[in-house]
Amino acid sequence: MLDDKQPQLTPLENLGEFGLIKHLTESFEIQNESSVKGIGDDAAVLNLGDLETVVSTDMLVEGVHFNLAYVPLKHLGYKSVVVNLSDIYAMNATPTQILVSIAVSSRFPVEALEELYAGIQIACKNYKVDLIGGDTTSSTSGLVLSITAIGSAKKEELTYRDGATENDLLVVSGDLGAAYLGLQVLERENEVFKVNPNVQPDLAQYDYLVGRQLKPEARKDIINLLKELDVKPTSMMDISDGLSSEILHLSKQSGYGFHVYEEKIPLDPSVIKTAEEFKINPITCALNGGEDYELLFTISQSDFPKIKGNPNLTVIGHTTEKNAENYLIIKGIESAVPLTAQGWVNI
Ligand code: ADP
Ligand code: MG
Repeated sequence: MLDDKQPQLTPLENLGEFGLIKHLTESFEIQNESSVKGIGDDAAVLNLGDLETVVSTDMLVEGVHFNLAYVPLKHLGYKSVVVNLSDIYAMNATPTQILVSIAVSSRFPVEALEELYAGIQIACKNYKVDLIGGDTTSSTSGLVLSITAIGSAKKEELTYRDGATENDLLVVSGDLGAAYLGLQVLERENEVFKVNPNVQPDLAQYDYLVGRQLKPEARKDIINLLKELDVKPTSMMDISDGLSSEILHLSKQSGYGFHVYEEKIPLDPSVIKTAEEFKINPITCALNGGEDYELLFTISQSDFPKIKGNPNLTVIGHTTEKNAENYLIIKGIESAVPLTAQGWVNI
């Protein structure tokens, strides 16, 4: 009786590889002139004119980077595109194309991949990028997803990780630590569910945190804002592994030391509240959590008046001198502790 209510699922072998690719990708429309040839030939053809080309790729492995017990496939598709686009924006470039490669086991029906591609398609529309190709193969277990993003920028607009110089200001967009706590909430609820599947989790009070974990956005708006304000960062990167490890990258690549002020690090009130519930320091979530996908950049002091008071941007520190150490300055006890990279457990 119950079986009658189960939707009919389509095994992958019903479609075959070519049928599957066509089925998943035929509703994607080309949105950029630079996508001369998309899906369907041996290779895609791009014409990015006389701009510099920016390319980045990321691989996501089931059980390592995501857990399908609590990550809906549509969200996974959306997020995996967004995190790649975030890398392109972090170069101060505009993403225009993506390639999506999947390895998938027969335990996934066609409908599951439809969900994944629905999420990919929403991201393509929201960020105006074209899906121009990829690869499809089988896997003996689980799902592997690899996404490559392509973008472009004028040579003089590109921002690298190594450009910070003496007495630059360190700026971060948005707020930090929420995605990490969102993951803690989802993992806790998943453990409860494993013990008692009848308990429905009440995630309402964790909305913001869970949203930041499952459906992050790339800060395209900040890239546009900086252009409007006529601010070109001296160096920039996105925050995927936690603030402290990213600052260490900016420091290592530029050769300058950084001071970061603990009380300046932007935290959402729900991060403070939930960190308390999990008995962790919210600053630790910001420093060593991950997946915030905010932008971290340095600007020259002369640009400070242009960003001053903007609610999306917070100055959290500054560079010091060449070859100096990196310190977190803690106000209450007026001390400085060396910044260490704990990084993100899932790389
Ligand atoms: P080949 O045999 O040359 O590798 P494929 O048959 O794998 O070519 O791919 C045919 C076309 O479909 C190509 O344009 C390829 O980029 C695209 N494609 C293959 N798999 C995917 C996928 N998972 N998502 C999007 N495009 C894909
Ligand atoms: Mg192929």
